[in-house]
Parts: sequence; structure tokens; C-alpha cells
Amino acid sequence: MSIKRGRKFLNTPGPTNVPDRVLNAMHRSTLDLSDPDFLDVSKSCFLDMRKVIRTKGEIFLYASNGHGAWEAALANVFSPGDTVLVPESGNFSNAWKAMAEALHLKVEGIPGDWSRAIRPEAVEARLKQDKKGEIKGILLIHTDTATGITSDLPAIRAAIDAAGHPALLLVDTVAALGTVDYRMDEWGIDVTVGASQKGMMMPPGLGIVAASDKALEAHKNATMPRHYWDWKIRMEAAHYRKFCGTAPQLMVFGMREALNMLFEEGLETVFERHRVLAGATQAAVEIWGQAGALSINAVEPKERSMGVTTIRTAVGIDANELRIVCRDEMMTGLGGGLGLFDGKAFRIAHMGDINAPMLYGALGAVESTLGYLNIPHASGGITAAVEHVTKAKKTGSGPFTY
Ligand SMILES: *Cc1c(COP(=O)(O)O)cnc(C)c1O
Repeated sequence: MSIKRGRKFLNTPGPTNVPDRVLNAMHRSTLDLSDPDFLDVSKSCFLDMRKVIRTKGEIFLYASNGHGAWEAALANVFSPGDTVLVPESGNFSNAWKAMAEALHLKVEGIPGDWSRAIRPEAVEARLKQDKKGEIKGILLIHTDTATGITSDLPAIRAAIDAAGHPALLLVDTVAALGTVDYRMDEWGIDVTVGASQKGMMMPPGLGIVAASDKALEAHKNATMPRHYWDWKIRMEAAHYRKFCGTAPQLMVFGMREALNMLFEEGLETVFERHRVLAGATQAAVEIWGQAGALSINAVEPKERSMGVTTIRTAVGIDANELRIVCRDEMMTGLGGGLGLFDGKAFRIAHMGDINAPMLYGALGAVESTLGYLNIPHASGGITAAVEHVTKAKKTGSGPFTY
């Protein structure tokens, strides 16, 4: 029996749904490189990205995905042989670490537990031992999309300050930006790494980097080979230099519309919406999990991501099969388990251009798939999600206080 018709649901933690308004803004002709119709829009995007990242620092936009933005960040502030500290948060800290190694940085990890956030006290303890100041940078993942866990950036900043350590602080907020509060300047972050295709509601294809004054200073002495990524070229006056060549014009028009939508909704409202939808998803998983086969990976409720919920499956339950059947039979795309979690977890994203009924659709698809595959679960997950949203709507805020 086939019930495949209508729209596909996309609940992967990148890419996410692209609103029609953004698609329509991109559906236009390309322009002369220096046409004012493009330049004005592009300049406004560089200015307005600062409001989302909450920084007075310098913004760089790359025709790249998040990995490109990672490389841009590393190549601009470090020299080969520099030591960087990478506290393990999950698969994404491991991947950034591997990239740093490939770029000839010396990489030191702090082993982490994929079910908890980065521990500020572990960072502080390691930095206190570094009397000679050998550690040049600290690389953090804000929300590790593999684990569905968000680390407490102000607490980690406070730990670095308590150790009195001068290392640069680089944060990957690819999966968190536009889902939860982020304050680059207030939190003393030197380099922010983002991308277009998650909470920012655009297609994949724009890498976003922001640099503090301290990062721009470090850049001047950083000798890692670079050209396409180089901030120096991108800070020259001619606007096309900001893209080291032809701008990805239609992506920029899309970004303008996505920024308009975020500001119209209001960032606080955007975060509140994510918080309610995260709570609804968690409510559903808690119910399904009563049968013992499924559990939320993030054991500490206050560390749970607002944008993605990672669900572990019990031994003997193939999470990849669940994900593939859900996609191919129920037309709903879920995230798979990454790294250590391959086949042992799946992820429901609730980030970006999504509302409650879209989430109910996805949760319903998961519940149907669980039944179809005879995966033990208590029924009533959808009802719990609906009730969570109803209660949040009535009280003006979700019952979960993060
Ligand atoms: C998605 C993601 C990335 C990588 O983005 P790509 O665009 O796929 O290169 C990096 N970091 C985190 C935390 C992510 O979630």
C-alpha cells in the first residue's frame, strides 16, 4: 500500500526547509557584478548578519558550506604548528579537529561524553596548566548536531577568564544560529562560524564567519597558506573582493529575504518557537521511550538543543532502517546517527522554517514507522506533543524552562 503524495517533510538538521519567500527572492536574473541593485542588497546583508550574531565585528560570507567556513576560520587566525584545544562535544568537534590536523595544527582534545555538554571546569583545568600559553585557540561547537546537545558558551568563557588564558575562542554555531540566543561580543567570542542552511532558512551554499578585533589582530601574524579564504582580500574596498570574485548573487538575495523574515518574526519569538517545538518533540520521545527502546540522548534536560533531538535506539534496533523507511515510505526525512551513533541513533530536526503542524506531521511519520517496523514504543507521543504546544500557547511560554 502506497500513500505517497503531497509534499515531502524535511526534518534533517541541515538542510532545513526553505520558505517560499526565500525561494521567490532567489528566483530572479543574475546581474552585472557591480549593479547597485545587487550591491545595496549585499551590503545590507553584511550589516544585518551582525544583528543575528550580535557583534560589531567583521562579517565574511563565503560561497561554501559550513566546512568551508570552518577552514576559513582556521586558515585566517593560525599558523602551521600552532596548538589548538578542541573539547569533544560529539561528531562535529571530531570533524573540526580532523580538519585542524590536516591544516598542520597541533590538536589537543578534551575527551567528552556524547550525552553531556562540554564541561567548563575541564576547559579551565587544562588552560590553567598551560603556563607557557602554548594553546593559541579553543575550538567549540555550540550545538553538536550529532548529539543534540548545546553547550553553555558564557560558562565556558567564564572558565577561560578564570584561567586567565589569552587563547582565541572560536565557536561553530552552524546548527544553533537562529534557534537559540547567541551573543558573540557579550560572550567574548573571537570567531563565529555559521552556515546558511539550518536556522538561517536558506539553501546550503553560504558560509558565514564573523571576526572580533582580537581575531583580526591575530590574522595579521597568522601564516597559514590561504587565498580564497583570506580576510585581507575580503576587507578591501571593492565590493566584489568580499567574495574573492563573483558573488553568489542569488544566495545573497535569498539571505536578504531570510534576514527580513527573522527580523519580522523577532529573534526572541524565533527562539521561543524553537523552544516550544523542542519541548513538544521531547514530550513525544519521552512517551515513545516508555517501552524501553528509545531515549533522548541528552540526559540533562537543560542541555538539550532547541533545534534537533537525537534519539538513541536500544541494541538490536537499526536506526538507519528506521530513517530510510521513514523517508521512503512516509516521505519524512530524518537525520541519521553520526560517527559513534551510526545505526544507533536518529535525529528529528525542529529548526528553521517550521511550525507546530509541520512538526506534528514529522512526529506522526516517526510514530507510524515505529509501528510498521514493530519497534517497541508506547503510543500517545503525538498527543503529548500537541498538549505541550497547547499549554505553551495558553501560558505564553513552554512548560520547560531552560
Ligand atoms: C551542519 C554542521 C556543520 C557543517 O556544515 P556543512 O554545511 O555540512 O559543511 C558544521 N558544524 C555543525 C555543528 C553542523 O551542524
